[in-house]
Amino acid sequence: MVRSYDFGEADRIVVLLSREEGLVRAVAKGVRRAKSRFGSRLQPFVELDVQLYPGRNLSLITQADTVSYFASGLIDDPRRFTAACTVLEAAESLSQAHEDPALYDLSVKAIVQIAQDPDPIVALDGYFLQAMELAGWAPSLFDCAQCSARGPHHAFHPAAGGAVCVHCRPPGSSEVDPETLHLLWLLAHGHSPSQVLTPQRGAQGHQLLKSYLQYHLERRLKSLQVLDEV
Ligand SMILES: [Zn+2]
Repeated sequence: MVRSYDFGEADRIVVLLSREEGLVRAVAKGVRRAKSRFGSRLQPFVELDVQLYPGRNLSLITQADTVSYFASGLIDDPRRFTAACTVLEAAESLSQAHEDPALYDLSVKAIVQIAQDPDPIVALDGYFLQAMELAGWAPSLFDCAQCSARGPHHAFHPAAGGAVCVHCRPPGSSEVDPETLHLLWLLAHGHSPSQVLTPQRGAQGHQLLKSYLQYHLERRLKSLQVLDEV
């Protein structure tokens, strides 16, 4: 489950990331009453098996059973908890209203890793890279994003598409340690980053990803707003 909000006197609207139908909005009736059969299960970081009755705007949840509970490794650690919330937010904004088992499985795996991994931020960065790969707009991390010249390169620019060579680098590109890009490449391909991971590279990689995500998410949100205006 991604998030929920109260509705009416005793109902709750929940936003679910599902394997079969992407993002689903549904109403759970009466679940804020003490005797509700499944109200307590409708929490973030719980994997549920739900039965939905389709409605005109919202589906109705008629049954919810817990499959896995991931919150125990997260709630006592603010860094892990925040990182896991970020996964849910990203999954919500990347998910479309159709079947997306790969994004679902990736999001569940990331939450488990964030609860267990020695460095939850590295696990979060791996999630972002793989989720962008699925969405089709991951940064280039080895070859030049503009001319495809073979890397490794020393510069990174979000609007240019990631790593850029000395000939293509636009003004304002970040100077980067090629091993930081190597670290991100390993994470993007689901490999262990331990051979190149240092605190400095981890922090630099996280900054690069943040700027890349910010730029591309804003651009995507703007294009959605434009579509609304047409
Ligand atoms: Zn180039």
